[in-house]
Amino acid sequence: MPRTLDPELRRALAARIRYYNEMGIYDFYRQPLSVRAGEVAAPIAVDEGEITISANAVSTNQPEPGEAVSPRKAAAVAMPVAIEENIFDAIAPKPEQSVSDPAKTLKIIREDLGDCTRCVLHKQGRKQIVFGVGNPKAELMFVGEGPGADEDVQGEPFVGRAGQLLNNMIKAMGIEREQVYIANIVKCRPPGNRTPEREECATCSPFLMRQIAAIKPKVVVALGAVAAKTLLAMNSSMMQLRGRFYDFKPAGVHSNDPNWDGCKLAVTYHPAFLLRDPRQKGEAWKDLQMVMKELGLKAPKGNS
Ligand code: SF4
Repeated sequence: MPRTLDPELRRALAARIRYYNEMGIYDFYRQPLSVRAGEVAAPIAVDEGEITISANAVSTNQPEPGEAVSPRKAAAVAMPVAIEENIFDAIAPKPEQSVSDPAKTLKIIREDLGDCTRCVLHKQGRKQIVFGVGNPKAELMFVGEGPGADEDVQGEPFVGRAGQLLNNMIKAMGIEREQVYIANIVKCRPPGNRTPEREECATCSPFLMRQIAAIKPKVVVALGAVAAKTLLAMNSSMMQLRGRFYDFKPAGVHSNDPNWDGCKLAVTYHPAFLLRDPRQKGEAWKDLQMVMKELGLKAPKGNS
């Protein structure tokens, strides 16, 4: 008989799997429920720290009893989830699952996020959570890394200098900022504008995935390496990631629209990087032209 996982454990497992995926680890296998004679079941303790596998767990490549193993090693040896259930499907139904209106769905996701304390960024000086802004039915979504100082104050993504450049990029595509949806991988400002840690991205990004599934865009543009690597669960360089479309489905979420089977994802430079190195603007424009072609957009006269 299948057993049902505790919702909190499901969430932790889903976050842990995304974390492994980001490190390039995709293959897991599970230990059957039956415990062989003389062996102890192999519980997996999932928390914010390391995974500990108990004695006599599985495979010939096991850690010593009680040994705390690194996530990489733990994943390399096995994923001994002794439950007759595919953990990739063991993701609790989301509260918005039966709601079809994207604006209402986003509201439910925002309420579910609440005054979030799920990762350390909640106690590192954030003024407010920066959820996302724009058209709930947008065909085009931009995803950045995390809020900066201006965004933290105003509660809206991309409102500082980088935001102004993003607005110009959007205009150059022949559309307005209000037509697209803009969000970030993490919703709280990392202190000193540092790059968000992998664990912070893994904890926060499930909410972004739900936002994407709610909006059901035709194209998502990942702005910068953190957004690209988190969304694609790939650890390649920007040079390798840019210049092509990826088929993208938000991880861990089933869209409530059977007609939406994911979207295209393109990668380009983060506007903050383009402010530091304006020579790369031409390359970013090539990426955006690829997106425009996909969406049938035409640049205003004088911009092509
Ligand atoms: S960054 Fe995301 S997960 Fe972390 S506290 Fe803020 S909203 Fe919660």
